[in-house]
Amino acid sequence: MKDLKDFIRDVPDFPKKGIIFKDITTLLREPAGLTEAVNQIYEIVKDKGITKVAGIESRGFILGGILAEKLHAGFIPIRKPGKLPSEVYAESYELEYGTDRIEMHVDAINPGDVVLLHDDLLATGGTAQAACKLIEKAGGTIAHISFIIDLTFLNGAEKLSGYEISSLIQYDGE
Ligand code: AMP
Repeated sequence: MKDLKDFIRDVPDFPKKGIIFKDITTLLREPAGLTEAVNQIYEIVKDKGITKVAGIESRGFILGGILAEKLHAGFIPIRKPGKLPSEVYAESYELEYGTDRIEMHVDAINPGDVVLLHDDLLATGGTAQAACKLIEKAGGTIAHISFIIDLTFLNGAEKLSGYEISSLIQYDGE
């Protein structure tokens, strides 16, 4: 079995100059890579009583959906603005330049739900922090936040302090 890191492709200057994009499509396309990543996260979260998995658009939907089914939990999409058809809660968060916003249906999560939040990658942590606020606004409890990749040199975990988080692959520099 290859190291999971060997499945990740670095794409320099995407989507803009200076960013090294961590491409997970090269992991997803390989059955061994996909299965290993799903199973590693499943082992971490399987005994946490999770009732809902919330995935962040769009790469968080892929493993998030698989994990939800494996955990016999429901799946909740957290989306970019204007994509969800019914009434939403919205949260804005700071980017390096400007702000961004994510949304979740107000009836996606019930008070008492135990939630796994999943995204492909943790960078500065702003996206995941905003997603936590949405889930808590709806009355959900966040049991765990899972990422495939953590760019640890950006210290995103600091923004998520107080939450239990995990990542399968870490990069401590570009
Ligand atoms: P952040 O809010 O800074 O933690 O950014 C996390 C979000 O941006 C995730 O949804 C990632 O998919 C995406 N992202 C940020 N940086 C990268 C990168 N270097 N490679 C791939 N995706 C990234």
